Amino acid sequence: MSNTRRDSLIAEMGLGPVWKLRDRAAEALASASVEHAATGAATGASTQRALNPAQPVRRAPPSMPAPMQPTVHVDDGREGTILGLEWPALQESVAACTACALCRTRRHTVFGVGDPAAQWMIIGEAPGADEDASGEPFVGQAGRLLDNMLASLDMTRDKNVFITNVLKCRPPGDRNPESIEVARCSPYLVRQVELVQPKLILAMGRFAVQALLNTDASIASLRGKLHRYRDVPVIVTYHPAYLLRNLTDKLKAWEDLVFARQTMQELTGEGVASGA
Ligand code: SF4
Repeated sequence: MSNTRRDSLIAEMGLGPVWKLRDRAAEALASASVEHAATGAATGASTQRALNPAQPVRRAPPSMPAPMQPTVHVDDGREGTILGLEWPALQESVAACTACALCRTRRHTVFGVGDPAAQWMIIGEAPGADEDASGEPFVGQAGRLLDNMLASLDMTRDKNVFITNVLKCRPPGDRNPESIEVARCSPYLVRQVELVQPKLILAMGRFAVQALLNTDASIASLRGKLHRYRDVPVIVTYHPAYLLRNLTDKLKAWEDLVFARQTMQELTGEGVASGA
């Protein structure tokens, strides 16, 4: 990647000149991409257990991330129906859902936004106040940062990417998602991934990672590696809302985007933007 291109990406993410990535780091990321693309398939069996939530999950202060809890499966009889729905019916099902207590406090469900045939899928945690008010994921300050991150990949949220959350309704007061809420909501995400069939998932934040990969490992330990969810490659990075409070980790997020971009190019054999 040329220095000019790199400077442009940094500017798009609002990193400023102080956060320039050295060539050596970029080369290391390129090596990691190849290495983990080769080993990622080995993680497939364990990730088949993902999105089966059960044990309590807690949202920790950004500066002191708590260990992620494993998830378990809850069969409430809805899963088979949801997994048979096509896109419009799935949207309607989410909009009318009363499967957990969050239906009583939400203003809008947040199904997701973007291209349902996209190569990229970005999965966050849960709607916040702005998302609950608008019915769209990643709006407000965190949304603007995500848009800048997408711009660094020559993408916009309506072009070759589908963006959604693990939970489709806002937890009151932006509290941590309850395990039963994740359990009730997870079939929707499973079906979205099945229908979109993304080439690459970018999991943003601990709860997205927990739901997809069923791991209690830290994001720091999972970054820079290629994971898999149902045979779809997954790259882990920080949630934009976290980055707004932890500016020094923006560089790490940018490294993750570089890794994701390289991985997508390897998966498709073409430039990222040309896939759009
Ligand atoms: S969070 Fe998910 S399961 Fe709960 S009411 Fe909303 S759509 Fe339904």
